[in-house]
Amino acid sequence: MPDTRLTARSNPTQPATAVRVADERIGGAAFTVIAGPCSVEGRDMILRTAASVRASGARLLRGGAFKPRTSPYAFRGLGHAALQLLAEAREVTGLPVVTELMDARELDAVDAVADVIQIGARNMQNFSLLAAVGERRTPVLLKRGMSATVSELLLAAEHVMAHGNANVILCERGIRTFETSTRNTLDISAIPVLKQETHLPVIVDPSHAAGRADLVPALAAAAVAVGADGLIVEVHPDPAAALSDGAQSLTIEAFAAMMRMLAPLAGMCGRSLELPAGVPAGPTLGIPGDGVLIESGAHAMLRVCA
Ligand code: PEP
Ligand code: MN
Repeated sequence: MPDTRLTARSNPTQPATAVRVADERIGGAAFTVIAGPCSVEGRDMILRTAASVRASGARLLRGGAFKPRTSPYAFRGLGHAALQLLAEAREVTGLPVVTELMDARELDAVDAVADVIQIGARNMQNFSLLAAVGERRTPVLLKRGMSATVSELLLAAEHVMAHGNANVILCERGIRTFETSTRNTLDISAIPVLKQETHLPVIVDPSHAAGRADLVPALAAAAVAVGADGLIVEVHPDPAAALSDGAQSLTIEAFAAMMRMLAPLAGMCGRSLELPAGVPAGPTLGIPGDGVLIESGAHAMLRVCA
């Protein structure tokens, strides 16, 4: 019986689908990096972060307006005001905007601004929300639930596509395991498994996987190496002062350093990651722990291959 699921890659020769977002194609030859703060916290910080990540080679801007928080007392986002700030950041930088939708009652407002609607891990099986975004044509970034199998992720994507929206991008963001040294466990195997089973683009969120900024470049390098189509990364101008997810957010400088490390690695893996001229150079990755991890990983490999 042929596999008739909309997400299925029925045979290895079936071409992968690239999802178009403005002038970008996620899932094509380019390795696409989405970057920005966990939450939009104010005008200056989002404009500054957007300009900086763009200057380092990010092609889309992320920023949460409506935030799913484990504690109801934590910062839950600036809501509609944040959507306006994201629209302004796009106006100024030209970067398309990725932002999360938590509640179908906000769909019109989010869809009016978002170039990509993010469905977060906690809502991966919110079937009415999946149906609601399935009725639109705006691309959907669907994050894997923290206890969801690959097959459940694909079925969640199927819910969106069955309603007519074929523009789905899958995201591995770490799953919950017994390990406590990281916030989640990046399921690196899920990427090649997904690339075999579906034609949809697959990106990786190393920030929510690690929960620690110092591990983000190493996980990002791993994502490139296993064939992911891109990354979504949290970047904050002052992570120590962030209102959400500061511990896992890269500084602007660390993001630039990571991009310099990833560009040649992407090239070696058959993907293009073009950086704008003048991405600030620096001797180290500028990450806590002075880049030891990367020195022994991708960087060392790059030096050997250079
Ligand atoms: C986020 O992207 O900020 C987020 C809340 O991600 P996740 O749904 O993967 O936890
Ligand atoms: Mn976050």
